[in-house]
Amino acid sequence: MTPFNKPFLTGKETHYIYEAVNSGKISGNGIFTKKCQDFFEQKYGFKKALLTTSCTDALEMCAILTDIQPRDEIIIPSFTFVSTAIAFIRQGAKVVFADSYTDNPNIDTDKIEELITDKTKAIVPVHYAGVACDMDKIMSLANKYNLIVIEDAAQAIDSFYKGKPLGSIGHLSAFSFHETKNIIAGEGGLLAINDERFIQRAEIIWEKGTNRSQFFRGEVNKYGWVDTGSSFLPSEIISAFLYAQIENLDTIQNKRKELWNRYYKNLSSKKLDGIKLPNIPEYATNNAHMFYLVCESEQKRTTLIKKLKENNYHAVFHYISLHSSDYYIEKHDGRELKNSDKFTECLVRLPLFYELTLEQVDEICDLIV
Ligand SMILES: *Cc1c(COP(=O)(O)O)cnc(C)c1O
Repeated sequence: MTPFNKPFLTGKETHYIYEAVNSGKISGNGIFTKKCQDFFEQKYGFKKALLTTSCTDALEMCAILTDIQPRDEIIIPSFTFVSTAIAFIRQGAKVVFADSYTDNPNIDTDKIEELITDKTKAIVPVHYAGVACDMDKIMSLANKYNLIVIEDAAQAIDSFYKGKPLGSIGHLSAFSFHETKNIIAGEGGLLAINDERFIQRAEIIWEKGTNRSQFFRGEVNKYGWVDTGSSFLPSEIISAFLYAQIENLDTIQNKRKELWNRYYKNLSSKKLDGIKLPNIPEYATNNAHMFYLVCESEQKRTTLIKKLKENNYHAVFHYISLHSSDYYIEKHDGRELKNSDKFTECLVRLPLFYELTLEQVDEICDLIV
């Protein structure tokens, strides 16, 4: 069976892990952590990059940093992964779910303003499939109502909005290096800070509420407990793995885009019956994080997944909208989110990973009618 994802190894991972282990320093915030953080700051212009143990953790850091309190309201799309919500729920906040566009799973920016109240504290746009949300509209709403914008850029490495790197636009952003993402570390993430106000405190929260980072830079003469926090930083073993991936970012991205473009070219030249291709707005790039299709009905999707499976290709559906999850259905305010529900029922993800071949893509496309 051809899987839907297969983690790609560049070959250098174990080499760098060996180096890290032999350096004698394997806890966090060492040489490989710094190399990775410098790379992200330089390539994407983040004011500060901090590696984390996951994107979920980076989002939790965002919730702590922005001082989210019980009864604060956070606007997020319903069609997303649980982490987008859970980081804020853990602080006791209420998440207010926004619907997706009709033709794109991202948060519908025309439906955000009506959800803003005097309790709203933050908007968390999710760049689904690495395709940008309409960030100008979101940032102008944030300015108008004095809100914080936290980009869930888990899927959005090396993708752009009107030429700006995703993750560099909101006040804070979170990326994932989970093995299903474009560049990986097994489990891993990144907090990107664009609003300088947050930098100093972020380093403290990252290191268990201590000013250890400042101490090691010689900025303070003793270190101790100064704030809340947790152990959000990954070990050097994880950072060493990630560094091998980062070095090969362009190679990985070029291959993924080649596969994505093949899917798109093949399928757009066919007359598909009740199946739509992804829609990428003019302001957005495609980072080839995933190739998805939207079927006209759940039944059509089930049939398609079954047919691919019979031919040894594993295709999967994606999020169950969070407003109708077991955990949140009782807490949701009851509004219908039709587009989000439609993507829950009708979206299907096709295999896409570095080692997939163009011939396999052609074969998959032949099975789709
Ligand atoms: C993968 C993903 C996450 C979670 O990332 P982890 O690194 O596994 O914590 C969060 N949000 C979105 C949109 C994701 O796709």
